[in-house]
Amino acid sequence: MPRSVDYNLRHSEKSCNFAFVIPNTYRMRHQVNRITDSNLNRLYMIDQIIDYNKTFVEQKGYEKYITDKYPDKKLAVLSCMDTRLTELLPAALGLKNGDAKIIKNAGGLVISAFDSAMRSLIVAIYELGVKEIMVVAHSHCGACHMSYDHFHHEMIARGVTDETLETIQKCGIDLHHWLEGFRDTPTSVRKTVETIKTHPLVPKDIVVRGFIIDSETGALEEIM
Ligand SMILES: [Zn+2]
Repeated sequence: MPRSVDYNLRHSEKSCNFAFVIPNTYRMRHQVNRITDSNLNRLYMIDQIIDYNKTFVEQKGYEKYITDKYPDKKLAVLSCMDTRLTELLPAALGLKNGDAKIIKNAGGLVISAFDSAMRSLIVAIYELGVKEIMVVAHSHCGACHMSYDHFHHEMIARGVTDETLETIQKCGIDLHHWLEGFRDTPTSVRKTVETIKTHPLVPKDIVVRGFIIDSETGALEEIM
């Protein structure tokens, strides 16, 4: 953290830390005038979004999006959080609001049979009527070649201690596995599709297919 930020936080707000600063929009607006830390600039972006949101609601910008919670196409899509896909993915798949449950994480992966992605898929199947699942990875994914060694280096540089990391490991969290990416995208897609297909809680009539989408053109390549 740049010294000026550290100084401001410690001296202007004696009992204050980042978590305490975040919810207070008024105070943030005054702090961003004095502080140039990138974290605070991101918070300032949230202020802009809040302002935009007020106008959006006032002008009834929501009206064309109104639908219910049940996906009209009885479809769930598991994909990556990559920003290139934010609009490209639904556009390239022809999906509009209300059509599909779109579940996103880093890499579009199920990393274990009872992780958050798998839980969302189970909810989509049993609570929301989903019959088909598309696993959609993408070209040049940031989660490809991700490694715990890199995260470890960055975490230590930003103040996480080795003692904290050891405590987490001792609690049974395998950080290497949790933060490891994949080496080969088609293999990763097959693995995720297999995990879903063979999951003991996924009914046999659920269709599961795997794809890689081109991050630029939106072209789909079916993997399995
Ligand atoms: Zn990605």
